[in-house]
Amino acid sequence: MNRSPCDILICNAQVITMDAARTIHSPGAVAVEGSRILEAGSDAELRQRYDAVETLDAQGAIVHPGFIDAHNHIVHTTSRGVFDNIFDIDALPVKFADLKAGVTSEDEAAATAMAAVEMLRCGFTMFIEPGSLFDTRAAAQEVERVGMRALFAAPYLWDRRETFDAMPALESDSLMARVPIDRHRALSQLDAELHRNQDPEALVRGYVAIYGVGTASPELIQGAHTCARENGVPLQLHASYAPGEGEIYRAINGVSQYVHLHELGVLDENTVVVHANLLDDDEEAAVEQSGCQLVWCPITFFSLGIVRNASFKMAQRHRRGVRVALGVDGAFDCTPAELMLAAHLASRAGDDPLPPDALLEMQTINGAAAAGLQSELGSLEPGKRADVVLRSPRAAGTYPAYNPLHLLALTMGSGSVDTVLVNGEIVLRHGRSTRVDELEISRAVTASVTARAERLGIKRQP
Ligand SMILES: [Zn+2]
Repeated sequence: MNRSPCDILICNAQVITMDAARTIHSPGAVAVEGSRILEAGSDAELRQRYDAVETLDAQGAIVHPGFIDAHNHIVHTTSRGVFDNIFDIDALPVKFADLKAGVTSEDEAAATAMAAVEMLRCGFTMFIEPGSLFDTRAAAQEVERVGMRALFAAPYLWDRRETFDAMPALESDSLMARVPIDRHRALSQLDAELHRNQDPEALVRGYVAIYGVGTASPELIQGAHTCARENGVPLQLHASYAPGEGEIYRAINGVSQYVHLHELGVLDENTVVVHANLLDDDEEAAVEQSGCQLVWCPITFFSLGIVRNASFKMAQRHRRGVRVALGVDGAFDCTPAELMLAAHLASRAGDDPLPPDALLEMQTINGAAAAGLQSELGSLEPGKRADVVLRSPRAAGTYPAYNPLHLLALTMGSGSVDTVLVNGEIVLRHGRSTRVDELEISRAVTASVTARAERLGIKRQP
């Protein structure tokens, strides 16, 4: 039998494909040619079929599609250790909005490089940045240098401020000076990152995001939706984040937020609404009828106390067919590796446990759909991009090899990633970046955070 050539054959693995049938090949293999997957299948058959330039022996470990973080304010990762609680305004050394505004381009580059390396080491190959980078060019360079994928939008597009009364930590003079609350600015920057999509091979792509949570007029909301649809990209916005936001929204608009978005005609299957923490019954109906997608940030769900304030609906929504993806929001007190565990624990606290297979859907194929890239990413299938993660068979949390879905969703944290391919290239091998000096990146981000704290007059807490 003639063998076919391929670049990389990953063999001797438990391959969790996340294809439509949720096939698991064990022992399985994945063949990669260029930037794409040729085939995922049985180990014996693929070894027969392919002659590989390089063979990666997974030694029986789990191999899975790269995870996608559907909502990650990448620079907020450098807020670690600065705040106990960003909403405890009186106890803060500086307002969170002032910290956001107090970054230079060098700070954003250092933060992005660090968080990107960390995400690879947590098994993530892509993140969606929700429009909170001031210098997207500097950040994109770092994402590409590390070898990840990302989706970028223009920063902080807004034209109303009333709902900040429910979220005072998120508003400050310094932030509003950098990104004014201004309709003309917001409308003119909607498509600012879409030029990236002209290159089909680009690792960093653009989409349309407005800040949301009541900070957009109907004109801005509809302008953003039109721009997204004309350019074939998702529209994303935050909505129903904090307690109190919904009341202010209703007072201004005379109707609940999701119902209003539905009435404005902007909720459809390519619109992705982030948070959905506190919805009334009419808003639940608007989500279901419209077919819009949701991104859930379960760690924020805990830190805002939503667990105490609302009945838990995410598992129900998922069962009803609403596409729910997961996002870390700001990785202040965690890494993205804890996302599925947090979602599981929140669902347990809400008496409606999300099983491992649902969590993995949220972290893979639903994340790809939130990026508008479900035909390219999110599963290990022929023709899709080769964004593949090989776990280590020796790491903590990887045994017993009895229920791989349970292990992958809940017990295998950041220390279990051995090798990562993005776009067919090995960007992490034996847990280390093949492209960048991680110590240099770590030192640069520490220097950046220390200097920013000094500039802003933040005293380090003992
Ligand atoms: Zn956010």
